[in-house]
Amino acid sequence: MIQVRLQPFTVYESALMRTTSTLIDTEDSLILIDPNWLPEEVATIRRDIELKRQGKKLYVIYTHQHYDHIIGAYAFPDATVIASKAFVETDASAQLEEIKTFYEQYYIDRPIQKPVVDIIISEDSTVDLGATPITFYLTPGHEATHMSLIVEPLRLLVCGDYGSNIEPPFIEHDAEAYLESLQKLQSAVYEHEIRWLIPGHGDLCDDRSKMIERLSAAEEYILALPEERVWSPLWPEHAFFNRVHERNRKYVEQKEHEREARQRDY
Ligand SMILES: [Zn+2]
Repeated sequence: MIQVRLQPFTVYESALMRTTSTLIDTEDSLILIDPNWLPEEVATIRRDIELKRQGKKLYVIYTHQHYDHIIGAYAFPDATVIASKAFVETDASAQLEEIKTFYEQYYIDRPIQKPVVDIIISEDSTVDLGATPITFYLTPGHEATHMSLIVEPLRLLVCGDYGSNIEPPFIEHDAEAYLESLQKLQSAVYEHEIRWLIPGHGDLCDDRSKMIERLSAAEEYILALPEERVWSPLWPEHAFFNRVHERNRKYVEQKEHEREARQRDY
């Protein structure tokens, strides 16, 4: 479904995990971020692109390699693809296997592929896509290949899997890096006077203080681990998130033990 349709961009929302895909329509290009999940949903995005195409160049940006964010890659073979250096270098077989399992379980038959990247982002930098400057920030922590981006003319921040109002942090790479990425995003919100923040899962935010609220809720949650569970009122309470929390807690606890063991060895 369409979550938001404004003249310069559209946010699509999947029925699954409220995952967003963003399509930006500029004078000379179409920029699509993380097309996902279900075949009908991806087909809707593809159709909209054809309607808006008018000879424009198509770019697809992947914020990170998690399977829900790369699952739609098969539908955009004509796109110039952009992702981080870590994305290119990281083996995607586990993520592709997740897609395969998902498709098998729901009798879906679509091609499964790791996107082939044309423009590689190896550091925080601004790249012009056609006439549109996009600033990329490497934001690992949730996942090692993760990056976020700002569409400068729109002051639009596409966070990837940060800044959600509907889910707690999923620490699947590194808690320290996660905190640094949150700091980076908070600074970017102020420095670039962000007007719209789009999370990978959940609702677009157009209120700067609420953007900061979302990012700092995640920060407070991580800082309190592993002892405490500082749960934002924004995040629902249910069994799945209990399991996510338990995984986060164990992960941070494990890291602490490793650090202590290293200190003992000296
Ligand atoms: Zn993710």
